[in-house]
Formats: sequence, structure tokens, C-alpha cells
Amino acid sequence: MRAVQVSSPKGPLEVVEREIPAAGPGLVRIKVQACGICHSDTVVKEGLLPGLKYPRVPGHEVIGIVDAVGPGVLQWKPGQRVGVGWHGGNCGYCDSCRRGEFFACQVALQTTGISFDGGYADFMVAPAIALASVPEELSPVDAAPLMCAGVTTFNPLRNSGARAGDVVAVLGIGGLGHLGVQFAAKMGFKTVAIARGGDKEAFARKLGAAHYIDSQTQDVAAELQKLGGARVVLATATSGEAISAAQAGLSANGVLLVVGAAESLQISPLVLIFGSRSVKGWYSGTSIDSQDTLAFSVLSGVRSMNEVFPLEKAAEGYDRMMSGKARFRVVLTTGQ
Ligand SMILES: [Zn+2]
Ligand SMILES: [Zn+2]
Repeated sequence: MRAVQVSSPKGPLEVVEREIPAAGPGLVRIKVQACGICHSDTVVKEGLLPGLKYPRVPGHEVIGIVDAVGPGVLQWKPGQRVGVGWHGGNCGYCDSCRRGEFFACQVALQTTGISFDGGYADFMVAPAIALASVPEELSPVDAAPLMCAGVTTFNPLRNSGARAGDVVAVLGIGGLGHLGVQFAAKMGFKTVAIARGGDKEAFARKLGAAHYIDSQTQDVAAELQKLGGARVVLATATSGEAISAAQAGLSANGVLLVVGAAESLQISPLVLIFGSRSVKGWYSGTSIDSQDTLAFSVLSGVRSMNEVFPLEKAAEGYDRMMSGKARFRVVLTTGQ
């Protein structure tokens, strides 16, 4: 089979021939159809995680068909369409796992395409617990970005405490933000899109935004306060400055919900104190959260906008993602 691996930190993405892996106990082999390229794949490419074992095949937005199941796998059968996202598994018995906080597993937290080989390949093997069922209505290319970018915006929004009709702002209209605006609108929030420049307004409104704030020419916090203040600002941008500037636009008890990995934030204790506001991060989700994301996307018509590259052009696709110019997600296809 073909696989695209990184052999050492900062090394190139190279197409290699590999043996098709076997599905061991508790594992499922997937014939990969599509795999999204996510900014978090830089962890492998650039060697950002100490102890990461190379060579490694990146990719945690995987869609494919169950090809073989290992001993002890009861819930999946060959032929089923599945997806694998960032959360690749957890121990099930540590204190965090017993509290249901699987993302914080202290013993055996597994990340797809980082702890084990991911979806930049014709086949991959994943723990059965990491699999989400993929509805027929979604093509592999449609579904792939929902496994990370989708769940990373859908899941914090649905857990944010915001209720139908509340003002919810999405900061940044990129790979994450263009999905965040759609999800927020379809969840019934009064959705505000915030981005740089006036040229994105028409697009933001097409995605479902009821309001648009141009952060280059308008005071974001003041504009949000004119709308009554945002119950939630979902920060998908990576500019710490832009995220920090939105905090004063929160309503009382408003939450600045951070999913974009900015380097640092400037938070005013006074803004937090006088208004009981908070700043919170959100981890993407587990396989059932991804499955819910896929189902909601079918129900509501939310889709990612994608640029598609064949698997062997993974390096080109990765560069395109890194350029920041892709509209909006880059997806690899295997032709299977
Ligand atoms: Zn990702
Ligand atoms: Zn655990």
C-alpha cells in the first residue's frame, strides 16, 4: 500500500510503499477513502512533540471502509463506513476516564496520526473505540474535515451553555471558523461573524451569519455590546491580539471559548470580574462527538468547503494548508 510518512522531525512528507498492517486485538483496519490535512499535523511534520516515534504517518480526519476487524472487536464489521478523528483512545480505568473525561486520560491517551499511524495512507489501523459511524449522505471528502475541524467547532458550541436566540460570535472565518458560523446559525444562535476586512461579509452571511463585524475598521467589543453582548465568542483565529480584543464584547456570564491555538492572550481581570465572564478552552471530542457532528451536518446541511489533492500529492496539499490560502480545508483522496 501507499503511505505518506515523515521520517524525522522537519523531514519531508514522503510517499513510500508499506505492508498493509494487520488488525490486532481491539483494532480495526480501515481502507482509507479520504483524509483531511489539519494544521495540527505540524506536530508530526515539525516534531513539536517530544518522544514522538518516527517514521510516522500523519492524518486524523480519516474516512474509509472497515476492511478487517481484530479479535475482541464486537461493534464493527467489514464494509461499514467509518471515520477516525484526533481522539484515538484512552485507558478506560484512570481517574479521568472513570469521570468520563476521556480527553484527559492520564495513562494511555492516544492521538490518531501521532501515537499511531494515521490516514495519509491507503490503509490504517485504529482502536475500535476511536471509530465513528459515517452517514451515507456524506461523501468521504465531505465527511473528512468534520472529523476534526467540524467536531472542534460543533462540540464546544453545543456545550457552551448558549441557548437558541443568544448572541454567539465566531472569531475568524477560516478552516474552523467557516464551519463554526454554519453550526452556530443552525443551532439557532444569533450568529455574528468577525473577520478582517469587508470582503468576507457576503460570504459570512451566506454561511448563516446574521451580523458581520470587520475587525479592521470596527471596534469588535463595542459592536458586540451594541447587540447586547455575546454569550459566547468562539475564538477560532490564531491571533492572540484579535482574541483578546473580543473579551469586552461578552455579555454578563459570557464565555470566551478558545479553540484557536494563539501564542498568548491578554485578559483583563476587571472584564472577568465585573460580569462574571470566563475564558475557557475546548478539546475537540471523542468518537461519539464526531459521530454527532456528522449526523448534525446531515440534518442541517452544514458542509466544509474543501480543496482536494490525491494522496501522492500530500506534500503539495500540506504546503497549501500551511500557506493559509486554502478555502478552507485540504483533503487527500486515495481513489478507493
Ligand atoms: Zn485536527
Ligand atoms: Zn485513562
